[in-house]
Amino acid sequence: MNKAVLEFSSRAENVAFARVAVAAFASQLDFTLSDLEEIKVAVSEAVTNAIVHGYGNKPENMVRLELTIQEEYLEIKVIDRGKGIDDVAKALEPAYSTDPERMGLGFSFMQSFMDRFAVDSQPGRGTRVIMSRKAGAPQKAAVPDQ
Ligand code: ATP
Ligand code: MG
Repeated sequence: MNKAVLEFSSRAENVAFARVAVAAFASQLDFTLSDLEEIKVAVSEAVTNAIVHGYGNKPENMVRLELTIQEEYLEIKVIDRGKGIDDVAKALEPAYSTDPERMGLGFSFMQSFMDRFAVDSQPGRGTRVIMSRKAGAPQKAAVPDQ
């Protein structure tokens, strides 16, 4: 088991920092470059949501990342103490967004790129996205050998 905790200001500039930090930590496992790219997309989406929706783009708040490597699994928690989500099931629907300027696809990317995914949110208290991905094996069922 190996753990890392990271907290940073809710600024858009820190999305790139979070992506690189997670990829560096994840590199201890047997992920391919394309796995790491997908993990970075999932992290970007979750951290962007925390900044944009959780904290309404106000930079004085903190986003927290908790990373755990256990056996072949990388687990990533992205935590904000922002406004929370009223209806998580609705928020998870593809193309659903509370912002008409956005696509509403962030959660869909996280779900498709990670093996396990969950959202825990309380209105007025904040949101916690928990996702994990297994290293050293195809993410989805591979096409069997002929
Ligand atoms: P996109 O990610 O495509 O730019 P989006 O952010 O609206 O658009 P999702 O990432 O799928 O789409 O999120 C869906 C909705 O869930 C958001 O519109 C927002 O209302 C809500 N949401 C997501 N993350 C949070 C969060 N951390 N705090 C509060 N609300 C959130
Ligand atoms: Mg989003």
